[in-house]
Amino acid sequence: MLITHLQDSDQSIQMSTIAPTTDCELTWTRVEQWIEWCAPGELERIRSSHSLIEHSLIEDPKKPSTLEPESPPAEDSEHPSWLEDHVCNTSIIEKKLPTRLIHIGYGTEDVRLCLTKDLPGGDVQYLTLSHCWGKIAMPVVTTKENVDQMLKRIPVQALTKTLQDAIVITRRIGLRYLWIDSLCILQGDHDDWLNEAAFMGHFYAGGFLNIVACDAPDGTTGCFFDRSVERPNGFRVMARADRHSDERTLWNCMPHKLAKQAILHCETSMRAWCFQETFMAPRSVYFSKSQLFWECRGFRACESFPQGINVLKAPLRQTPVTMWKRLLNENICYAWFDLITDYSLCNATYGKDRLIAFKGIAEAYCKAFGLHKAFSLEGQRQPHNYVAGLWRQKMEHQLLWFVDSHRKPRNLSLRSPSWSWASVDGLVHLPGEKYSWPKIECVVGIVTVNICANDQYGEVNGGTMELKCKPLIPVGVNNKMELVVEGVNGSTIIHSIVYPDVEPSGFNDGFLFALRAWELSDFEQWGLLLKEDIGTGLFRRVGAYEMNAERGVDMEDARSIMHAGATWTSNIAGGYHPWGGWKLHTIMVI
Ligand SMILES: [Zn+2]
Repeated sequence: MLITHLQDSDQSIQMSTIAPTTDCELTWTRVEQWIEWCAPGELERIRSSHSLIEHSLIEDPKKPSTLEPESPPAEDSEHPSWLEDHVCNTSIIEKKLPTRLIHIGYGTEDVRLCLTKDLPGGDVQYLTLSHCWGKIAMPVVTTKENVDQMLKRIPVQALTKTLQDAIVITRRIGLRYLWIDSLCILQGDHDDWLNEAAFMGHFYAGGFLNIVACDAPDGTTGCFFDRSVERPNGFRVMARADRHSDERTLWNCMPHKLAKQAILHCETSMRAWCFQETFMAPRSVYFSKSQLFWECRGFRACESFPQGINVLKAPLRQTPVTMWKRLLNENICYAWFDLITDYSLCNATYGKDRLIAFKGIAEAYCKAFGLHKAFSLEGQRQPHNYVAGLWRQKMEHQLLWFVDSHRKPRNLSLRSPSWSWASVDGLVHLPGEKYSWPKIECVVGIVTVNICANDQYGEVNGGTMELKCKPLIPVGVNNKMELVVEGVNGSTIIHSIVYPDVEPSGFNDGFLFALRAWELSDFEQWGLLLKEDIGTGLFRRVGAYEMNAERGVDMEDARSIMHAGATWTSNIAGGYHPWGGWKLHTIMVI
């Protein structure tokens, strides 16, 4: 039996059956119900605004059903009480319409592109699609050459199945407009891509609902699946709350793997762009093989448990609502890096998109926490406080990221400075606990990054950071990934753990230095590994190291070894004052 995902016993939550296929009345009833709970009255309002404009259209048999579902189980049509402080209709970022949308029409009416500047009124409601292009070429895309033709008619039959299904879904929900990247951005036109890509997060945030083709590795699979109704997708059991109690309560269960696979480990979740899309969208429906999942900023549900999977007790990942709420009393660095950690595992098709595919999230975060306010350091006004994926606030702490696993060779298309997480491929973490405030012994001075396309949140092409720190210590790394410290009496091994930024590490190629900077506690110290850029005097980050008493390091010994190494260096550099402690050195890291 699979590990189960348990919910607290709640008699008001009912388990529902699932229909043999995703594309059926029951499915649409569910989706309408979720929308109604999330945005009461909105769908009806949008539909009636369409019918006012287009009441003269021929009656179509596929015209969406009304908001009165055919057979909603009476008990679960009530608004669940935990939905009361729902925030999905609050904009997390300034609304910005895409240049083009797909006009869906009803029934046999032609599908075509339209320019949003030509649409009447400001309240244009549209759906968005999160999907994988996959390895097959898209049979139809919009280009500079065919855009005039596409504004008249899009050949729907020639589109991939996923795109055709997205059109069906938009029709069934009763919206008139849809946004899909391959059709709404001119493919092969770099200027158009730059214009639209910069606001991709805004487009998803401004959409009414996001369709996630989560089990479609490419366009041929689509959104609809037949399912086995016999296979348990959920069940209820009477069980003891814990082994010390005889009291039995009712538990709602579902295979943990099911929700995880549908939302977290699906085809789209591993795409960097899709990470932003589902994060920014106010509400998403995941068309997975097993069942439909709903995710908005307030609740997560599925067909087996339409009234909700308890996300607060078993969060699958950060959603904007959990993030916003938590951040009010948490260390900003950890909350930010929780997002970076989730994002760092996604593959960007092109490595250079690493920052721009995260831009919408950074802007929303900035808005939510007032980080856009001018930041000044020692009287010096910084032009912006978001630099290559890090915030100027508490930047010293954010520099401590390390690559935990999934390292890859240095990606030459990533042009972020070495001190930014965006310069590496791999699972990135920030050490320490969420409520810890490490003692930091370095100071970030002036930071400059070369921004591309005049966009501080977008891609960068290198950058420099001034760092005031203790004297660097010449070190080596042995094949057990431990630090070897050079000192007056030769070299000494510290049983530390070294985390290279890339694979191969390149540690043995040139001079390596340790930068001691963070004490998380008396028993845990962290630092960075830097390499000198020969001839320029600049340094590049190549890894991080951890010295931890819990992992067998004698901290007293380690400190004195590091101290001896530093003294040895300082005797040459003249940095140590016996009566005044360490003099901070200034180095430049690129
Ligand atoms: Zn909602």
